[in-house]
Amino acid sequence: MTEIKKIGVVGAGTMGHGIAQVFALAGHEIVMIERTEECLSSAKDRIKQSLARIVLKKKIKEEEASDVLKRISGSIRIEDLKDVDLIIEAVYEDEALKRGIFSRLDSMVKEGAILASNTSSISITRLASSTKRPENVIGMHFMNPVPIMKLVEIIRGMATSDITFNMIRDLCVRIGKSPVEAKDYPGFIVNRILVPMVNEAVYALMEGIGSPDAIDSAMTLGANHPMGPLALADLVGLDICLAVLEVLHRDLGDPKYRPCPLLRKYVEAGYLGKKTGRGFYEYR
Ligand code: NAD
Repeated sequence: MTEIKKIGVVGAGTMGHGIAQVFALAGHEIVMIERTEECLSSAKDRIKQSLARIVLKKKIKEEEASDVLKRISGSIRIEDLKDVDLIIEAVYEDEALKRGIFSRLDSMVKEGAILASNTSSISITRLASSTKRPENVIGMHFMNPVPIMKLVEIIRGMATSDITFNMIRDLCVRIGKSPVEAKDYPGFIVNRILVPMVNEAVYALMEGIGSPDAIDSAMTLGANHPMGPLALADLVGLDICLAVLEVLHRDLGDPKYRPCPLLRKYVEAGYLGKKTGRGFYEYR
């Protein structure tokens, strides 16, 4: 394969629908794969709403937005990815689920196709080992919200080839992103630094050092962060933060990464942040 044209996105939730949108905006043909027709139509609605906002800001014309939508198709059959050049997996942060999908894709997609994961923390080397093409497996870690955030961390597994790496790096630049290379260690760069900070903020809340507002204001006003750590956790999803901490704790074996019990309680209660209407703050 010499050029990446058609792209598959498996899992079109918070991240997947944004990934589909940015590639379609850049002119790629996209196939989104979801579990159910309802999930697919919700992903399409989110893309429509996001494109409408871009039209309102006069960054693209209405006709362009409708062309972008025409380039995105959806299916609940993973077999519909047979002829794509690149697949970006963005399903739940669950290693067994991701490994199953990688092994299924490997047995079915064309020779030379690249398999990428948007995982926040799971080892790319381990995901690659569930395929017979580890040289074509790579991490593409987009940030939330995908259409706005510039960074894509590109993670090489042990066997990722230079050809695969260079193709993915060039592709990220072509769609207007700024790629940064990260080695395949738990949490890569951003989450290795960011999620322990979020965890510490939840400890500060649990110990009563400050209210959510006080903790977030202290970090926005005192450290010049654009958003406080608890508001950020609500945006990312508390379940995702907990999953990343569990990987850091287990794979690095250092007790400093132990997830705060209060974070665990919020997740058990279903207070996952913006996506469920309640996290450290309430959303209507
Ligand atoms: P999400 O829960 O919003 O979306 C996951 C989607 O995957 C859901 O729509 C679900 O229906 C779909 N799905 C699950 N199993 C599937 C299957 N077998 N086939 C097809 N679709 C399936 O989660 P998210 O926040 O978009 O996270 C997705 C991935 O991106 C995770 O690996 C996460 O760690 C990573 N990530 C998340 C963020 C963030 O801020 N949320 C940032 C960077 C990376």
